[in-house]
Amino acid sequence: MIYCKTCHYPLVRLETNRCPECGRAFDPGDEATFDNTPRHHRRWISGLCVLIAFYPTLVLVLFYGCWLVAAVSLGHRPIPSRDDPKYINVIVSAFYYAAGVGLLGTPFAMALNLIAMMVDSVERRWRLGRPSRSQVRVPLISCIGWLLFLLLIALDPGRVMYWFMD
Ligand SMILES: [Zn+2]
Repeated sequence: MIYCKTCHYPLVRLETNRCPECGRAFDPGDEATFDNTPRHHRRWISGLCVLIAFYPTLVLVLFYGCWLVAAVSLGHRPIPSRDDPKYINVIVSAFYYAAGVGLLGTPFAMALNLIAMMVDSVERRWRLGRPSRSQVRVPLISCIGWLLFLLLIALDPGRVMYWFMD
């Protein structure tokens, strides 16, 4: 196993002799251009930041999942004020409570997401010594997730929110 000398990314199964993480070139025949041993690095920080960035997407999946499971269970679209998500069946209830907790945690998650974006950016710059191509990953996932989240909650197509909150 060989690793990038700059960012310590494992250099395996690559089409080119260039690190996919930071872009540094290496020569598999020249030991001076790569590392042989993995070094301590904080990839888990990036992983955690990506996970936080997926929060709004996860809540949407739970929210629409609840509606979908309810629709399948009932055999028709859930009707507001008649088909209570709490009393259809245990799977719908599980989705309902998970999505409910997710929705309640929105303000907290937004703040945490902002912190995650800053931490990820700083950590990458510190680790690589310069901005990397994957720098955009956390802000991109966050922006798309929250935009979609706010749009769907505000517009409520199919009146899913109306049914859910009823
Ligand atoms: Zn690299």
